[in-house]
Amino acid sequence: MQRIKENIAKINGLKAAAAEKTGRSGDDILLVGVTKTRSADEINEGIDAGLTDIGENKVQEIMDKYDFVKPVRWHMIGHLQTNKVKYIIDKVSMIHSVDSYKLAEEINKRAGQHGITMDILIQVNSAQEESKFGISMDETEELIRTIIENCANIRIRGLMCIAPFAEDPNDVRIYFAEVKRLYDQYGKIDHERLDFQYLSMGMSHDFEAAIQEGSNLIRVGTAIFGERDYSKQK
Ligand SMILES: *Cc1c(COP(=O)(O)O)cnc(C)c1O
Repeated sequence: MQRIKENIAKINGLKAAAAEKTGRSGDDILLVGVTKTRSADEINEGIDAGLTDIGENKVQEIMDKYDFVKPVRWHMIGHLQTNKVKYIIDKVSMIHSVDSYKLAEEINKRAGQHGITMDILIQVNSAQEESKFGISMDETEELIRTIIENCANIRIRGLMCIAPFAEDPNDVRIYFAEVKRLYDQYGKIDHERLDFQYLSMGMSHDFEAAIQEGSNLIRVGTAIFGERDYSKQK
């Protein structure tokens, strides 16, 4: 199957072109391959084709596939229930979806038990969509400050957002721009437990728009692996 390799090459080209429009290079943008519903074989093919980072949105899928996937960095990108943190704390290198202090507290506790520091992103709901997870822009600073003051085993590495779907991704650039503004602002907070390096924005249909608004980490599934069959997801 050449397809996955070709798709990754194509995305790398588009990513570089979008980055250059903002005075950056393609290497400044981390591609996280989103592997939900994909088999370990497909994921390994992606890794052979150059993926260094993969993202899953369900704890169960990480647990089912973890032992069968080649060495790679795992990202938890989906909504995370506090009672499931313990299953992935020693498997993922970053959690993108922290949107409450309660979840941060649990991550902090479990990281402490494993003697590790967990990298997290704060998920911001800039479009204020009722159906999506993420903290509102108004509450983001307070959540960041509460976590850095109280959670010794967590390091906040940046922000994440999921833009609303739009036929024309240019229509949602405003939401990316808003989160980029917060990223620049809160990245200046001087604290040993805050080290902003990742602005996780952009998926298959809108990653070029996201990059043009300052994203440096894109989460791409369909454009790499093809349409998903959700009946394969537990
Ligand atoms: C599924 C998913 C993606 C990837 O979506 P595609 O449209 O397949 O690229 C990105 N981020 C999150 C949080 C997801 O759940």
